[in-house]
Amino acid sequence: MLNPFDEFQPSQREALEAALSDHELSADQAYSLLDLTPRQVLSLSLVADLLRRQQCGDQVSYVVNRNINFTNVCIKSCRFCAFSRDHRNEEGYYLDFEEILRRVDQADAFGATEVCVQAGLPPKMEGDLYIRLTRAIKEKFPHIHIHAFSPEEVLYGAVRSKCSTLEYLQELKKAGLDTLPGTSAEVLDQKLRDTLAPGRITVEQWKQIIREAHSLGLRTTSTMMFGHLETQKHWVDHMLTLRDMQSETGGFTEFVPLGFVYQEAPLSFMKELKTDSLGPSGHEVLHVHALARILLGKSFRNIQASWVKEGEKLASLLLTSGCNDLGGTLINESISTAAGARHGQLLSPSRLRKIIFEAGREPVERSTLYKVLKTFTGDNETDDALDKVENADQLFGSYRALTEAKENRFVHPNKLSLR
Ligand code: SF4
Repeated sequence: MLNPFDEFQPSQREALEAALSDHELSADQAYSLLDLTPRQVLSLSLVADLLRRQQCGDQVSYVVNRNINFTNVCIKSCRFCAFSRDHRNEEGYYLDFEEILRRVDQADAFGATEVCVQAGLPPKMEGDLYIRLTRAIKEKFPHIHIHAFSPEEVLYGAVRSKCSTLEYLQELKKAGLDTLPGTSAEVLDQKLRDTLAPGRITVEQWKQIIREAHSLGLRTTSTMMFGHLETQKHWVDHMLTLRDMQSETGGFTEFVPLGFVYQEAPLSFMKELKTDSLGPSGHEVLHVHALARILLGKSFRNIQASWVKEGEKLASLLLTSGCNDLGGTLINESISTAAGARHGQLLSPSRLRKIIFEAGREPVERSTLYKVLKTFTGDNETDDALDKVENADQLFGSYRALTEAKENRFVHPNKLSLR
């Protein structure tokens, strides 16, 4: 009789049996699960799915949230980033507090429990901008969870304020920040980062800020961008670094692998760098998510499939490759859209539930901190306001409209103080 384990060498089988017996794999065991054939990747997915069932059951969660990327103007030039614009660029936009609060209000009216606020790093930013923004949102919408500011932004805020990152995080927390996105991690390998994004927050700075946030009770997500210049060994090293940090602090809520959206990224146009294999293959996407479940499932519990990066069909498949979460409705999405992702800016709750039902699983709406807020039976009927939206671009504003509208033009602080 055929057995999926027959696809593997004895050392690989040993590693997988250890994982299924609830053991943490050693680095060597993890490395043995790299460079697999496509058939082995499918078998690995099956193991990841079994583990997922042991670790979190059949529920698949999602959060009703809105992204607010309030400026694309940035002083950095990360080579993987198609979102940022120089302050002189015609497409550089900036949303003032009034518009940001209007967007939070609208999200609230449509049932969102979270706003996710991240942006570029505008030149000469007033150091306390993020703190004032957090306070303004919290004062008006105390019930909305503020998930905001990557470690790169925390570092920028601290540098501009001439204080330590710990002090800056303390002020953010006081102002009402609830959690932080663990983005700006990409791959936690300094040599690779120096090529991928010279001048980006360093590995040590990223780790320090995450540890500081966790020490203050500010939990964070964790991410890994893959499918660019990295090797498969980088995947494992990155995940093991996160696993070590999790055993120290317990502060990560989830791990989100992010397939590199390369079409419009500067890296795609840089001949001096290897650009013939940008963007992960389908099997690589399955491989990374399955590995994540096997290496991180025990301590992180939650492994997220990103529909905005992978699309609905692949995200659905990832639910049988170790994932137990589909992320958020987003409502607005600028960063992946700018890079060439074609999966839209909103997936309504009923659409997310449909994907989950089709994968034979049970949808639940969750809070940012994975508290189950609503469960659903198979009929998929609710009165979610977001399900009734017919033209999301028109109602919520598209990324293209943001970059084109004259009233959103970024004004350099030398000409006018930041609003
Ligand atoms: S990734 Fe962030 S810091 Fe880097 S260029 Fe893009 S917006 Fe700026």
